[in-house]
Amino acid sequence: MKTIAIIGAMQEEITPLLAYFKDYDTKNIGGNSYYIANYKNYKIIIAYSKIGKIHAALTCSSMILCFNADYIIFTGVAGGLSSDLKIGDIVLATSLCQYDVDITAFGHPLGFIPESSVYINTNKILNDIAKQVAKDKNIPLKDGIIASGDTFVSNRDKKQWIIENFNACAVEMEGASIAVVSNLLNIPFCVIRSISDSADDNADINFDEFLSTSAIKSASFVLSMVDKIIKI
Ligand code: SAH
Repeated sequence: MKTIAIIGAMQEEITPLLAYFKDYDTKNIGGNSYYIANYKNYKIIIAYSKIGKIHAALTCSSMILCFNADYIIFTGVAGGLSSDLKIGDIVLATSLCQYDVDITAFGHPLGFIPESSVYINTNKILNDIAKQVAKDKNIPLKDGIIASGDTFVSNRDKKQWIIENFNACAVEMEGASIAVVSNLLNIPFCVIRSISDSADDNADINFDEFLSTSAIKSASFVLSMVDKIIKI
């Protein structure tokens, strides 16, 4: 039986998924609860990692090494960097980077770690499925680079700095962890985010207001993807 893992960062990001699957077992590893449901010959494992790159790396590693996940999907919310992204819009990561990695003192590019790369690409098959879902449901889907770092970005200068240095269209705090771990362990992965704020001076207020509606949008998009993945 194949396994699809769906990861969020915060409880609010997975609540809509748990409401959908209803019947699930729970297993605890490393301070996280993993919810295991059976769905049409597939196993679906859902967890929220807690905020930030380290927590997300632990959850993603556990999904692959302890639960044998065959696919990793991240669902959640993000700050929009591109001016054409509005609150509630859905973004598909083409690649992810860690904007807060800086060993430029040694002559390396910003965001680069030796034996790794600044950008890690997401999986084409999963991305094509996301594009198909968007087409079927008539949802405008923006794809682009998503930048991750351990800061909630709520400042115009920082936002501009990330755009200029990484050409990213959205910013969040976990996606690059999913990319690093899944890529190293050879598991296909994708990152779907719905915009909760614009990473500007109003970001904290917007985030609180739109977290739940944007989280629902991302989760329901991912549920439609699951229905296509199980037909691969
Ligand atoms: N309000 C929360 C903290 C939210 S941190 C609390 O008090 O506990 C923001 C979360 O949403 C992270 O998981 C991150 O991935 C995502 N996110 C949304 N907008 C963001 C932004 N502008 N900058 C960074 N992360 C953002």
